[in-house]
Amino acid sequence: MKNLNTKRSSKLFNEAKKYMPGGVNSPVRAFKSVGSDPLFIAMAKGQYIYDVDGNKFIDYVGSWGPMILGHAHPNVIAAVKKTATKGTSFGAPTPYEVEMARLVRKMMPSIEVVRMVNSGTEATMSAVRVARAFTGREKIVKFAGCYHGHFDSFLIKAGSGATTFGQPDSPGVPAGLAAKTLVADFNDIGSVERLFVDNMGEIAAVIIEPVVGNIGVVVPENGFLDRLTELTRSNGALMILDEVMTGFRLARGGAQEIFGIKPDLTTFGKIIGAGLPVGAYGGREDVMRMVSPDGPVYQAGTLSGNPLAMAAGIAQLKILDRQKGLYGQLEKNGKLLEKGMKRNLEKLGLGYEINRAGSMFTLFFTNQNVRDFKSALTSDTSKFRRYFGEMLKRGIYLPPSQFEAAFISTAHTERDIEKTIAANYDSLKIIG
Ligand SMILES: *Cc1c(COP(=O)(O)O)cnc(C)c1O
Repeated sequence: MKNLNTKRSSKLFNEAKKYMPGGVNSPVRAFKSVGSDPLFIAMAKGQYIYDVDGNKFIDYVGSWGPMILGHAHPNVIAAVKKTATKGTSFGAPTPYEVEMARLVRKMMPSIEVVRMVNSGTEATMSAVRVARAFTGREKIVKFAGCYHGHFDSFLIKAGSGATTFGQPDSPGVPAGLAAKTLVADFNDIGSVERLFVDNMGEIAAVIIEPVVGNIGVVVPENGFLDRLTELTRSNGALMILDEVMTGFRLARGGAQEIFGIKPDLTTFGKIIGAGLPVGAYGGREDVMRMVSPDGPVYQAGTLSGNPLAMAAGIAQLKILDRQKGLYGQLEKNGKLLEKGMKRNLEKLGLGYEINRAGSMFTLFFTNQNVRDFKSALTSDTSKFRRYFGEMLKRGIYLPPSQFEAAFISTAHTERDIEKTIAANYDSLKIIG
């Protein structure tokens, strides 16, 4: 198998490194953990992504989640074009924001009132501020390996980029603030119970990724989210479901629809902006009315509810809301890919783990059942690195880290899945 020609990417990267930290604007993009230079992207369309050297790949990154309809979906592009000609930002309310709020509320009934922001990080940061104000308490509980953006309070055992770089805690986070964040173990309700006992009356909220995506995919065990919701309620704390990744991906109504839970607050990002910079938080009316200007909790944004971002998000959400069989197709292709990879592993006598929830999946290079942060960390990252390189050579663009979820879009066809299964077999055969 020939190596890729990546001359132009490498040239750009060398220049980028001079002006930007690591040559990138977000760490995992740097391909550090897979030991190569990142590819610079020229364009993407549907299920394909093209780099500046003219290589074409089937893309399973999907901009890290937003592109559930594939890249450059005609409705999204048309909406952005049409909106842009009328001006890109006004700093005043627009009809788009009303339509977006109405749509979100319709698709996810637990969202009674919603506030748009500009990223998932802003959404989780603001949700926690509101929860603290509402309960008059300061501590929060998060789960090891869950990533909720890069706000100080969440950079504690934060999975993903932080794990990839072996820096679970970041310097620059005040110790006093970090001390307000308590860490429990995913799929271990006892670990949460103990925190509530030891910090009685002090915990404002529990925040969780309902299906973890940021240590690779980890699925909640039966009843775990139900019991967590009960426990949180009975202790007078708020349940914040971080659906930045799972929202509108696992189902029309997100993970909360699938698992039948009703969080007090939910955070969004990624899909809600269709690839433009957006986030949102919302939920119970009595809690959300705490937010300024209805209430005293200050939170603002010059570009929040930006018309281009709203138009793109609305165009994407409308399709997700209305197109029958869309989530069924994602599940079908997800299952096909999972089965094919499992068959490959069996044929080759390898016992690696595949975790999947709908259109999110991860192949972990470990023989252990991956159900939390600790078990995810048993993965052989040097094997992943080689696997990533072999897949790339075969035209498959995976997330460049063992600890990330890969995403299927509605643009992926059965043929794409079959090609991917074949590449998976050939790659695993080489690296073992
Ligand atoms: C991506 C992500 C975030 C952060 O969103 P940004 O838009 O990158 O700030 C927060 N929570 C989860 C679960 C995510 O996957």
